[in-house]
Amino acid sequence: MKRKILFLKPYDFMHTEYNGTSNPQFSPIFPCSLATVLSWCKSHLGEDEFSFYGLDGYLFQDRMEGVLREVALIDPDYIVSNINVLTFHLVESYYRNMKGKAKLIGLINKAFPEDMVARYGDLFDAIIEKDWCSSTLSVIVAAEDGEIGKSPGVWLRDEGGKPYFTGKGEPHYISDYPLPAYREFHGERYNSFFSYWTEGCKYGCIFCSFGTAVYGRWRARPIESILEELKELYSIIKRPMYILNIDNELTLQREWAEDLFEAIEKASLPLSIDTNIRANHVDEEFIRSMKRGGITRVGFSLESSDSDVLQLNKKKLNWEDVDRTIRLLKKHNIIFQVYIMQGMYGSNRQKDIDTFRYVVDEMKVRNVGLGVTLPYRSTPYYRVLKKKEWIEDFTLDNYLWVGSHVYKYSFFDKPVGTKPFWRISDDYTFEEAVDTYMHLAELKPRKKLFADFVKPLMFGNPSVFGGYIRSVCRSPGYYIGKMIRYVRN
Ligand code: SF4
Repeated sequence: MKRKILFLKPYDFMHTEYNGTSNPQFSPIFPCSLATVLSWCKSHLGEDEFSFYGLDGYLFQDRMEGVLREVALIDPDYIVSNINVLTFHLVESYYRNMKGKAKLIGLINKAFPEDMVARYGDLFDAIIEKDWCSSTLSVIVAAEDGEIGKSPGVWLRDEGGKPYFTGKGEPHYISDYPLPAYREFHGERYNSFFSYWTEGCKYGCIFCSFGTAVYGRWRARPIESILEELKELYSIIKRPMYILNIDNELTLQREWAEDLFEAIEKASLPLSIDTNIRANHVDEEFIRSMKRGGITRVGFSLESSDSDVLQLNKKKLNWEDVDRTIRLLKKHNIIFQVYIMQGMYGSNRQKDIDTFRYVVDEMKVRNVGLGVTLPYRSTPYYRVLKKKEWIEDFTLDNYLWVGSHVYKYSFFDKPVGTKPFWRISDDYTFEEAVDTYMHLAELKPRKKLFADFVKPLMFGNPSVFGGYIRSVCRSPGYYIGKMIRYVRN
């Protein structure tokens, strides 16, 4: 009998990806990271002794209820699932009910492995924080030999219930990844797709919990492999594709990025790409080539308009670059969002408000992303605060407090967690930064639907606009709801 391995994306209100990205999620988006882990395991274990299944809770009308039914039918020997440290407690009972005889392997991407093992170590047979592909494979191989503890790269619980790490997993790089398993995960049922083309970052911003912290130096996939993936995807879905490339920094190596955009343009695929850029890497010629390569929306950071704060946080950016990039993106009709942060190391209330005023009033940016800077344990920022004795700890419980009290994520039916405390500078605390965030969130500009959303799509890429209209016609209720939320925000 073949052993069955199920790769499960739960309906858990968040997308959780191997490069450290996690954001709220309410509609189906192709789970690229998990589908890549499936492909990796399939190519290494082979199909003689194993069968591989992909399941996404977002594709079921009745969400996790549907997942429960399907898991019972498959009756897997292993369940590999990307879970979110912020929301796992909301779906925990489903996992307890579906586990059965299966070994449960959890893939997480934020710096709370000890907390997760301490909380859920009785449920999970292994928790993996980094190197999702190689560590998942080695856990399965070790489990087949009867001893998961022999696998490196895994967080486990000892007999006394104490979390421990089995040692660094085998590193692997994005250039080695196989294409995500689009067919096993029913790629044809999605309109939006996460896709990863680069990893890591050459910068070392002290607050960054992924970037260099997760994958070290910047690396890119071969352009042919990206093209092969896009073509394969198009052959499956046969309609315009909306690609969410959430690499930390797609444009870090200009020559590579320009070659990629040119190759995408030549392939003439109907697609629209959303990605992240760094303002100091782009000029007008580059933006033209981005646009020809299908980029219709970008996000990039300023974080703070105060040069001392940027320097203290090793951001290596200045507002002139951001200013120039904003003007060019407006000129070329590319939708964009600018991220700014409240409570960066060394900042204060006035500096945070000045940053907001600069972006919104002077630069007339309508889509501004706000965020309170958090000292994750793996970051240099945390170590700086520790050294100054300005923080005691930043735990999973504190992170839950931030999710439910600061961001007020709608999936929390009641506020949870424990309020954290730390100093940000001599005249600013975390509590005051939260207050500033709340104040600025009230002042955020309302978006204009036509100018910010429809017009750039129309002029940016007509075939994508056609695809967008077709999707609206297929499920009008979903899109009308989405529009209402968009305008309200
Ligand atoms: S530029 Fe800074 S914030 Fe962005 S990924 Fe790199 S290290 Fe992180």
